Order: sequence, then structure tokens, then C-alpha cells
Amino acid sequence: MIKTPMPSATAPDTKIYDRRESKVRSYSRSMPRQFGKAQGPWIHDSEGGRYLDFLSGCSSLNYGHNHPVLKAALMDYISSDGVTHALDLHTDAKSAFLQTFEEVILEPRGLDYRVMFTGPTGTNAVEAAIKLARKVTGRELVVAFTNGFHGMTLGALACTGNAGKRGGAGVPLSHVSHEPFDGYYGDEVDTADLLEQRLADPSSGLDAPAAFLVETVQGEGGLNAARPEWLRRIAALAKKHGALMIVDDIQAGCGRANGFFSFEDMGFTPDIVTLAKSLSGMGLPFALTLMRPDLDVWSPGEHNGTFRGNNHAFVTATAALREFWADPAFSDAVARRGAILERRLDRIAERHGLTTRGRGMMRGINVGSGDVAGEITSTCFAAGLIIETSGAHDEIVKVLAPLTIDDAVLEAGLDILEEAVAEAMPPVRQPLPSMNVAA
Ligand SMILES: *Cc1c(COP(=O)(O)O)cnc(C)c1O
Repeated sequence: MIKTPMPSATAPDTKIYDRRESKVRSYSRSMPRQFGKAQGPWIHDSEGGRYLDFLSGCSSLNYGHNHPVLKAALMDYISSDGVTHALDLHTDAKSAFLQTFEEVILEPRGLDYRVMFTGPTGTNAVEAAIKLARKVTGRELVVAFTNGFHGMTLGALACTGNAGKRGGAGVPLSHVSHEPFDGYYGDEVDTADLLEQRLADPSSGLDAPAAFLVETVQGEGGLNAARPEWLRRIAALAKKHGALMIVDDIQAGCGRANGFFSFEDMGFTPDIVTLAKSLSGMGLPFALTLMRPDLDVWSPGEHNGTFRGNNHAFVTATAALREFWADPAFSDAVARRGAILERRLDRIAERHGLTTRGRGMMRGINVGSGDVAGEITSTCFAAGLIIETSGAHDEIVKVLAPLTIDDAVLEAGLDILEEAVAEAMPPVRQPLPSMNVAA
């Protein structure tokens, strides 16, 4: 079903990348092809190879590549000379987005948030969130969590755990305390107890925090899924200590970890939420920060930006909300695919004595080392499957298939993964049947 990519005589000249593109590039190193077209879960290279995309732009393409409904909405808008750039002026596209977001997302969930359009990347939404929390509370410290990933600009980077990423800052990353995430010390220790104790102890050295910044499922940090009861305790601790609870839903939101928001039905409501990645639905840059209305203490232009509100993204985001989220059948279908994914990953894990991680359509398998995970992802790539790793040592092979993928295509991709794992690792030895033969 999946064609193995074959190099051909028309291979593109890729020397331009070595000559001109910065060394900072990363994904293109493990997938050294040049891509042209993409549709649904498929992406094609310029040499005729077709790949099944289980990376989905790190969860920026939850509805696959170039979804026909989203594409048509955007093409209509462009061909009728709809406004492309308007700073933060009122536009027809912005109005439609806000109305639809209110009607399809906020109201049915009983949520009341103000919507702040930040610069179009996730990191900017995080910057806005922590800036606002500091402004509202008059405090400096943000409590972030081990293995958290929040972006590359200095404020968000200070909240990010990964040493390699932090090393690029060039200045001290301060005003953040990294506390242990749920499960960090294993099942025996509830890290919410530790945090509670530190916050209550006037000699713990932990200053009163402005905010707790948390991912419900850590995307880059290894697909660690926090238990709802742990998240509820963090929310309660925030409230008790006058801090704001910020959920960074940039990767886990937009349906990836079940529900439009990953925290739905968990029994707590964050004070602030960040969204980006799949918000536009088509991979266009678009981010926002949601805040409780009484927290909206910004003065006009205080957190400014030239590209706040991407009108093309308003159009595709509105179309995505209408096409997918207005119909409860979509969530049911995503939950069903999540269950397929869980079953298949559990089977692989069991065969090789491994463990799985994650929630919904955001799951992975811990193969123990970055080297083994790298071997597995390379084997997959050679077989026509794009899949990446995450975690502190890149030891988690993570599946971020489109939420809209056909069940059969999902299974076909997982077949490739299953074979690649089998190639890289021996199955755990099954106990031999006992033999009643005298020695
Ligand atoms: C990707 C990501 C970000 C940063 O978003 P960018 O668009 O890359 O700046 C922040 N938080 C989480 C949880 C993410 O997954």
C-alpha cells in the first residue's frame, strides 16, 4: 500500500541547502529529501516517493495536508481579494473566526475566555501568557515542569527544560522554577505533594509564583500524560497560592489529546490557555492566548506585533471549526482512532518488553535509547513512513498521525512501525514450554 521511495535520475540539487541554509535546520537532516506536494496524510518528494506523514508538522496538521474544505475556503477568500494583512484591524475574516470560536468551542463547553491574538508562533502565545500572569499578580516567578517544552524565545525558553535548547539562550534563563511533573519520580511519589509542601513552607526557598505553566501531555518532552487528578491538584494549588494556572495546549490541543482542549472534562478550568500549531487547521501560522475576562488587564498595544491575526489563518481556522468541531461525530471518530493507536502500540510494547506513553492521538513508545529510536525512525523513513522522536534522550518514538486519517491507512503505517521496531530490537524471550525430559 505504501510505496517505497526510489531515487530517480531527476534527483533535485540539494547542495543549495549546504551552501546557503543555516546549520540550525534539523528535521531535514533525518529526512534528506525535497518535498513538493501533499494531500491528506501523504506527502510526496520530488523523486516520486510517497510518504505517510505520522509527524503532521509536530501536530500542526491535525486535519492532514491541504484539506479540500479548508483549501477551498482559502482560495475563495484570496480570489475575492479578501484582506490578507490588516495589523489588528477588524476584518470580516476575524469577525467570522471570533463568532465561530465562541459558538462552536467556547459556549458549548461553558468557557468564558477573552481571545488575544499574539504573533503567529506558539512561543509568542506563551510569552504573552507569562507576561500577563506577571502583570496581573505583580510576581516574577513562574513554576514550570520537568521535561516541559514551551518555545524558543527567552521567556518561553526559560520555562523549557531541555538543556540543548536552553544552551542557545546566551544569557541566564531566570525567574522560573522547574518542579517535577506528574510521575517524574515514578508511581510511588505524587509530585503534587512535593509542590504543595514547598509552597506551604516559608523556608523552602520557593518564591510565591505568578503562574504554573503546564502541558497536560508533554509533546516534545516525551509524551508524559499528567493524570487528571494531578492537574486538578495543580490548579487548586495555583488558586490557593494566588498564582494563575496556564495550560500550554499548543501541541495537545485542537483534538490531539482528546477534546478541542486537552483539559476538557477534567474538572478544572485554566486561567490562561495558549493555542497555536493546528489552530489554523492548514499549517498556517496562527496563535492565540485565552484569558479569563477579569485577567485582561493589558493596555492597548502593550503586547504588540505586526502579524497579530493572520487573516488567511482566520479563514481556514473558521472552516476547520465548522467542518470538524461543529459535529460531535468528529470527536467520536478521533477517539476511535486513538483507541486503535493505543491497542497497536500496546501490542508492540508487550512483544518487546517496552512501555507506551501519551493520550488520544498523541502516543508513543519508549524504546529505551535515542540510538534505537533513531534506527527505528530511519527504517520507517526508508519504508515510506515519516515519524519522529521525543523525550529527554529522544528515546520515545511518537505517532502524530492526522486525526482524520482512514483507519486502514493508520493501521498500514503502524504495520511499518511494528516491523521497524522488530528489526531494531529482539522480542522479549517467551518462557519455553516445560519439558519433562530427564537430563
Ligand atoms: C511547539 C510548541 C510550542 C512553541 O510553538 P512554536 O510555534 O514552535 O513557537 C510551545 N509549547 C508547546 C507545548 C509546543 O508543542
